[in-house]
Amino acid sequence: MAGIIVVTGGSRGIGAACATSAAREGYDVAINYERAKDRAEEVVAAVRKLGRRAIAVQGDMSKEADVLRLFAETDAALGRVTALVNNAGIVASVGRLETLTAADIQRSFDVNSVGALLVAREAVKRMAKRFGGAGGAIVGIASAATTLGSPNEFVHYAASKAAMDALTYGLSKEMALEGVRVNAVSPGYIETEIQYAGRAAKIVPAIPVQRAGTAEEVAEAVMFLLSDKASYITGQVLRVSGGR
Ligand code: NDP
Repeated sequence: MAGIIVVTGGSRGIGAACATSAAREGYDVAINYERAKDRAEEVVAAVRKLGRRAIAVQGDMSKEADVLRLFAETDAALGRVTALVNNAGIVASVGRLETLTAADIQRSFDVNSVGALLVAREAVKRMAKRFGGAGGAIVGIASAATTLGSPNEFVHYAASKAAMDALTYGLSKEMALEGVRVNAVSPGYIETEIQYAGRAAKIVPAIPVQRAGTAEEVAEAVMFLLSDKASYITGQVLRVSGGR
């Protein structure tokens, strides 16, 4: 039994794949985006073509007012959310730590850590039994960078994504008796626009399966964790990384 899903950062990449996969599973979908309105509208059209309701809501997930508006607009247009893909994330800059500005570091944490917490907070307010919710499931998009550390590339990104792992462990326990399961998927190298030019040649040889992953392969794992097939799984971070 599907329901109503919010996908942050759903205009492209992993979020867009999750939005269309969710529609195939029978969810009505609220897609958030920051800048790519046209791309978000394309995802909305794809969801509608699959026979499900869809809206696109602009908003910077690092800003509380935008997060509140995303959920309020979803309530009004689709109804009470039952599933969340907490996906919006950025690589603010690439370089060794000593080359980074305070602004690069701050922005990474604003979007990847603070934003993820704000989005999860608004979801549980609608899903948890204590707030009259019907329960639900949350899947965060973490990163293999959290354990690899991403030396010489983006240690600040890896550090900011570690918040998703901790959020998953902690919130799953807070929500265990509230009907809400909280898990995460931790992708390795996935071919999307978040990657800088030339990174594949550097990283792919270090991946045991010797290839990049696709957004659809991440979405498959997300759909499993959202589904009733994962009914006894909560507080887990599932690596989707080709063995890396
Ligand atoms: P993309 O760059 O392809 O897509 C990022 C999405 O997030 C876009 O929809 C973008 O919106 C949105 N977004 C960015 N910043 C904000 C913001 N402040 N508020 C709202 N939306 C925002 O990246 P991926 O699909 O690769 O990444 C998705 C998630 O997966 C991220 O959390 C990333 O950290 C994580 N991840 C990705 C990996 C990879 O190899 N690709 C590996 C590990 C983790 P818009 O289009 O409007 O700009």
